[in-house]
Amino acid sequence: MRIADLHCDTISFLQQNDLNLDCNQGQFDLERAVRAGIGLQFFAMFTRPDEPNRTLRMILQQLQKFYQEIEANPAQIQQVRCYDDIMAAERTGTMGALLHLEGAECLGHDLDILYLLYRAGLRSIGPTWNERNQFAAGASEAEAAGGLSKLGRRLVMEMDQLGMVLDLAHMSKGSFYDALEYYRKPVMVTHANAFSLCPHPRNLDDEQLKKLADHGGLIGITQVADFVSQERKDYDAMLDHMVYIADLIGVEYLALGSDFDGADDMIISEVGGYQFLPEMIQNRGFTAAETEKILFANVLYALQQII
Ligand SMILES: [Zn+2]
Repeated sequence: MRIADLHCDTISFLQQNDLNLDCNQGQFDLERAVRAGIGLQFFAMFTRPDEPNRTLRMILQQLQKFYQEIEANPAQIQQVRCYDDIMAAERTGTMGALLHLEGAECLGHDLDILYLLYRAGLRSIGPTWNERNQFAAGASEAEAAGGLSKLGRRLVMEMDQLGMVLDLAHMSKGSFYDALEYYRKPVMVTHANAFSLCPHPRNLDDEQLKKLADHGGLIGITQVADFVSQERKDYDAMLDHMVYIADLIGVEYLALGSDFDGADDMIISEVGGYQFLPEMIQNRGFTAAETEKILFANVLYALQQII
């Protein structure tokens, strides 16, 4: 089965440690990802929140790293900019790579850099990381959090027009609900789990999950152990989130968002472990057709409407 995964931090990890995508000691490389069946991967560019010009330089360095790796491995991976590119990757059996920006400080205070990065192939943005920035409040702002700023609303509406994925994974609740008002296409929460099973501020509560489904959105189940359970950090605890969310809102809204190379303590510890995931999911009572939806088809369907 082909697998789509909505989030990894591999590009920034490789760029900062001078490593290569084909084979490395981190949590994700092409050798293991191809063997595990990854057919589509979102690759995040990420810096910690900082002054816009400083973050822009770091993001451009990661963009260059992304291009280097795509060009160095044409038989295994190709960049996808539109739905047809994903279909082309399917036909040739290569992995599609969708470029994502996690935390949008580098865009500054107007949208010129957005258009430039769009031309470079950027197709997904999470406006904030955990803190507040010029666009929105992030998940760690807790009680003090607000929602989208005026500029944030413009960003979200422009992303809708351009055909870019809006990722709400790190948003505060206020920003999450605001974004749904201004972005009409299906939104994605690319790496998070269910708050009811694990009360972490990055996880979605039941009301958010229902709203997500109302908007045809997706949640990518993450392997980060802290988001899975406070006690039982094992495969079953991770699969519990899939079962819980499927029961609450339906299997159509479930996807995968590992966060490989984004945290140390992971349930499935590296991408090679994904090869066992189809069987694990089916062993928890999902049919083959439902498993296929979670692994790939739900993501394809959403991207068809977005990019
Ligand atoms: Zn993240």
